[in-house]
Amino acid sequence: MENKFETNSIRTQVPVTENMEHSVPLYLTSSFVFDNAEDMRAAFADEKEANIYSRFSNPNVQEFVDKMCLLEGAEAGYATSSGMSAIFASMIALLKSGDHLLSASSIFGATHTIVTKYFPKWGIEHSYFDISKPETIEKMIKKNTKMIFVETPSNPGLDIIDLEMLGKLCKKHNIILNVDNCFATPYLQRPIEFGADLVTHSATKYIDGQGRVLGGAVLGRKDLIKEIYLFCRSTGPALSPFNAWVLSKSLETLSIRMEKHCENALRLATALQYHPKLEKIKYPGLLSHPQYEIAKKQMKSGGGIVTFNVKGGLEAGKKFLDGLKMCSLTANLGDTRTIATHPASTTHSKLTEEERLAVGITPGLVRISAGLENIIDIIGDIEQALK
Ligand SMILES: *Cc1c(COP(=O)(O)O)cnc(C)c1O
Repeated sequence: MENKFETNSIRTQVPVTENMEHSVPLYLTSSFVFDNAEDMRAAFADEKEANIYSRFSNPNVQEFVDKMCLLEGAEAGYATSSGMSAIFASMIALLKSGDHLLSASSIFGATHTIVTKYFPKWGIEHSYFDISKPETIEKMIKKNTKMIFVETPSNPGLDIIDLEMLGKLCKKHNIILNVDNCFATPYLQRPIEFGADLVTHSATKYIDGQGRVLGGAVLGRKDLIKEIYLFCRSTGPALSPFNAWVLSKSLETLSIRMEKHCENALRLATALQYHPKLEKIKYPGLLSHPQYEIAKKQMKSGGGIVTFNVKGGLEAGKKFLDGLKMCSLTANLGDTRTIATHPASTTHSKLTEEERLAVGITPGLVRISAGLENIIDIIGDIEQALK
C-alpha cells in the first residue's frame, strides 16, 4: 500500500548509517571518495549510481528531492539554490533560439524579467496571455511554441487558471506545461495530476516555512528532468546540503502548517471583507474570488495569501504599512510570521507601471501572508493599523 502525503513527508529518509541516527545527519561534504579508479570511472560514466560531487548530488539534497517527487507525484527532480534558479533552469535547459514560450502575464517579478529582458537576447521568443481570458490561449499557440508557463495562484494577483484545461491543451499541441506551484505547495495542489510536465518551486516560501533558507526544485517528467539536471550539473545552481537538510525537516510539518495558514488566511479575508477602508479583498477561498470555482476544483483549500487595496492609493497603503505593530514588513512569504508587502515598490518594482496594472498590481495593493500567530492578534494588528 502506498503511504499518504503526511507519511511520505516524514518517513522518506536517507538510510541510517551504523550510528543508527533517528534524525538524518548533515552531509557537509563537497565531494565523495572512491575505493578504486574503476569505481570512480564507472560513476563518472553514469554506469554506477554514486555520489561524486555535491554540485551533482548529495544525500541531503537527494532526500529533499525524493520527498518532493513523492509529494508532487513526479517521476524525477532536481533541487536548486533558489526558486529563481529552478525556474530559469526549467526554461533555459529546454528552450533554444527560435523557440517560443507562451507565459501567463501574471508571474513573479523576477520570472517576468528573465522572459522579457534576457530571453530576447538569446533569440527565445515569448508572448504573454491574460490568465483571466483562458479562451485566448489556444489562438496564441505558434508552430514554434515549446512551453507554456503559469503560476497558479499567481503572486501577488492571486489569479487562478484551470490546470486540467491547460493540461489537455498542452497534450493536444505537444507543448511542455510548466507550473510554478509555489503558492499552493503540493499539499494544496498537484499540477502533475492535471497534466503538467514540470512543476517548479521556490522552497524558500512555504516549504521552508520559517524564513530561514533559500531553495528551489524542478520536478516532473524523467526525460525533461534529465536535460535540466545536465544543464545544472554544468552551470552550478546546486542546493547546499545544509539548506536541503533544513528543507527536508520543514517538509515534515508542511501539512499541518498549510492547514493553519489556510485557516488563518480565510478568517482574515472574511473579517476584512467589508472593511470600510479597504477594497478588492481577494482570497481564493472567498466566493467573491473571480475563479473561486476553479480554485475549489483543483486546490484543497485557498492558501495562505490575502490581498487588498487600501482606499486612497499609494499614500494610504504606505500609512497602513507604517501603522502595523506586529506584522513584518518584508519581501518573503509563507513564514510562521504574518508578513505585509507592497508589491508595486518591492517584488514587482522592475516592471513598468503599465505592466503592473496589466497584472492587477495597483499602487495601493497590499499582500498579506497569513502567519501562524493567533488569528485574533493578526486581525487586531491589521485593524489598528487601518485606524
Ligand atoms: C519567491 C517566488 C519565486 C522566487 O523564489 P526564490 O526562492 O526567491 O528565488 C518564484 N515564484 C514565486 C511564485 C515566488 O513567490
